Amino acid sequence: MKAFEYATALSTDSARELVAPRGLYLAGGNDLLGLLKDYLVSADRLVNIKSLPGLDAIVPGEKSWTIGALVTVAQLEHSPEIQKVFPGLHDAAAEVASPQIRNVATVGGNLAQHSRCWYFRHRDTVCMKKHGDLCYARNGENRYHSLFTGNTCISPVVSSLATVFAALDAAAIVLRAGKETRLSMSELYQRAWDDPLAHNSLNRGDLIVRVEIPAARPRSAYLQASDKHAFDWALVSCAAAADVDGGALKSPRVALGSISPVPHQVEAANQFLDGKVLDDAAASQAADLILKDAKPLEHNAYKVPMAHALIRRTLLKLKGTA
Ligand SMILES: Cc1cc2nc3c(=O)[nH]c(=O)nc-3n(C[C@H](O)[C@H](O)[C@H](O)COP(=O)(O)OP(=O)(O)OC[C@H]3O[C@@H](n4cnc5c(N)ncnc54)[C@H](O)[C@@H]3O)c2cc1C
Repeated sequence: MKAFEYATALSTDSARELVAPRGLYLAGGNDLLGLLKDYLVSADRLVNIKSLPGLDAIVPGEKSWTIGALVTVAQLEHSPEIQKVFPGLHDAAAEVASPQIRNVATVGGNLAQHSRCWYFRHRDTVCMKKHGDLCYARNGENRYHSLFTGNTCISPVVSSLATVFAALDAAAIVLRAGKETRLSMSELYQRAWDDPLAHNSLNRGDLIVRVEIPAARPRSAYLQASDKHAFDWALVSCAAAADVDGGALKSPRVALGSISPVPHQVEAANQFLDGKVLDDAAASQAADLILKDAKPLEHNAYKVPMAHALIRRTLLKLKGTA
């Protein structure tokens, strides 16, 4: 591994000063240390942000809840309040990796984790995410890749938390150039949709400080399909959130992960579901709308029926929470 300095930041201001110009933030280290060891990223300095005060709390609120960027995935999984108020978030957290990883993985690091594309992760392959001019997955081994993309790279976003945060209409609050910037989940990944080099829309030095979740959708559900029951990312993940009024959905949102560089959401499907009393037919129609423009490749066409089934099951699970 290339040598680097190590510094511990005690305030968000010092974190931002210490990270400039060629440093990287170190939270749980689950993703970052592997990237460094495989020479996929480099930094002159790692800035340990785990001692930043006040970023490790889950704070309930009447209008919105705040999840600090240093809250661990295990904290989300084991919080009885989260399980009660945001069951979809609890279920997504409980599916991440393994208990050992969840104990150290942070919300900020989970959202900012890099592509899992095996061509990107192979240190000798110079793909488009590494300034190459070819997406090897596009005409190669693409079974884990996207059904939707805005550019040539087909690496999908794999953060399970991003999927459920998108359904809950949560926003990441990012310290950027000294100011707090609010990014919806779509905005947090928009650059990866547009630009093959990007994993997300964060600029170097941007610090996620918290996630804010509106309390407007008290029903939420999450399901994923994976090759393995544990210690694995999702092949497809799906989250749905809504309020329920007299049995009918109010302000529903559905989001999918691992099929696009951004959490995949289709406004027409959300509108279609609004005011509906859910049944199999409505859930199936919503799934049709969400997957209408999918562009499967040679090895990932199985994701279309898998996503369709997950959308239906997640919506029916959501109904069950009402
Ligand atoms: C076998 C395995 C299975 C996994 N399965 C899943 C899964 O199913 N679902 C899932 O979502 N994840 C999964 N993961 C990924 C894991 O959850 C992430 O690697 C972890 O959450 C990263 O968090 P961290 O705190 O360790 O981040 P780090 O490794 O410390 O950081 C990751 C990246 O985020 C940046 N960063 C960290 N904190 C901030 C911040 N506050 N602001 C800005 N940038 C920041 C770092 O600089 C780095 O680039 C899996 C991992 C493994 C090894």
